[in-house]
Amino acid sequence: MSWIDDLRPGSGAWRTWQATSDAALEVFCCRGHAARPVALIITGVHGDEYEGPAAALSLAQCLSPDRVRGTIIVVPVANPAAFTAGTRIHPEDGRNLARTFPGNPNSGPSERLAASIFGEMAARADYLIDLHSGGVEYVFLPVAGFYGEPEPGNPSFQAARAFGLPALWQLPETDGVLSCEAWRRGKVAIGTEYLGAGQLSADGVRDYRSGVAACLAHWGMFNSDPPDPKTLAVFGGDWQLASATGILTASCRIGDPVARGATLATITGTRGQVLQEFVSAGDGVILGLRSKAYIRETNWAVLLGRRIS
Ligand SMILES: [Zn+2]
Repeated sequence: MSWIDDLRPGSGAWRTWQATSDAALEVFCCRGHAARPVALIITGVHGDEYEGPAAALSLAQCLSPDRVRGTIIVVPVANPAAFTAGTRIHPEDGRNLARTFPGNPNSGPSERLAASIFGEMAARADYLIDLHSGGVEYVFLPVAGFYGEPEPGNPSFQAARAFGLPALWQLPETDGVLSCEAWRRGKVAIGTEYLGAGQLSADGVRDYRSGVAACLAHWGMFNSDPPDPKTLAVFGGDWQLASATGILTASCRIGDPVARGATLATITGTRGQVLQEFVSAGDGVILGLRSKAYIRETNWAVLLGRRIS
């Protein structure tokens, strides 16, 4: 049993959910007349991203039981300790919560938090939207990410399309990512990205809020006019990781088209020596880029998207 099972029909209110002994999450829950389906809108898995939390708060203000079919759970800040510290990682154990799902209830703070969020919320949901942005250290082209193939019969792809951003990203299957682990268990899940570099984009808040509302309408859970269909670019792509620690100099910007063989970024050491060059493995578009100049080994530097339709 989860507390979600006990929500009253016709209710919409904030509650403080004690997810673990050291993490209390503010959660807005809105249930119409029926309990199902259940949608989980979750943001702030990384503590230094702000478009998702701001959009979630704005959305919660307009959710009322008479406009909702089923149950909509909104979590603006999923990782309160990281949010307070203003960091991507958890300040106590240094873990990336977005690589920790489904978690372990008998381990450290991030593992316990992941296990609680996954077991009590994500596992109860039919639909899941995981809103991210680049945080302090990265910047992303606005993209709605889906799992599986870009085909009409794939509900994850259809949800990403319904979200209304002009670029879609076929997400790589990455262990520990909330949306990926939910999708692997049969949930309809998407993950999104929108700019970053430590800032709060007003356009991002607007697009995220309308995107979530459009998805909820697409799933028949919310009374809202769906947006006009757009011409979409669909990208595959994966992260290029640093194999050295130093200063990253990018020679491209997000959204730039790049040709195979182009130098995208360089890592130099403290004597000015070139430690690593990132070269485009094919023609593509820059979907993501590290915005913080100092880069450590295993951080990602560039996300190159290749157009798949
Ligand atoms: Zn993130």
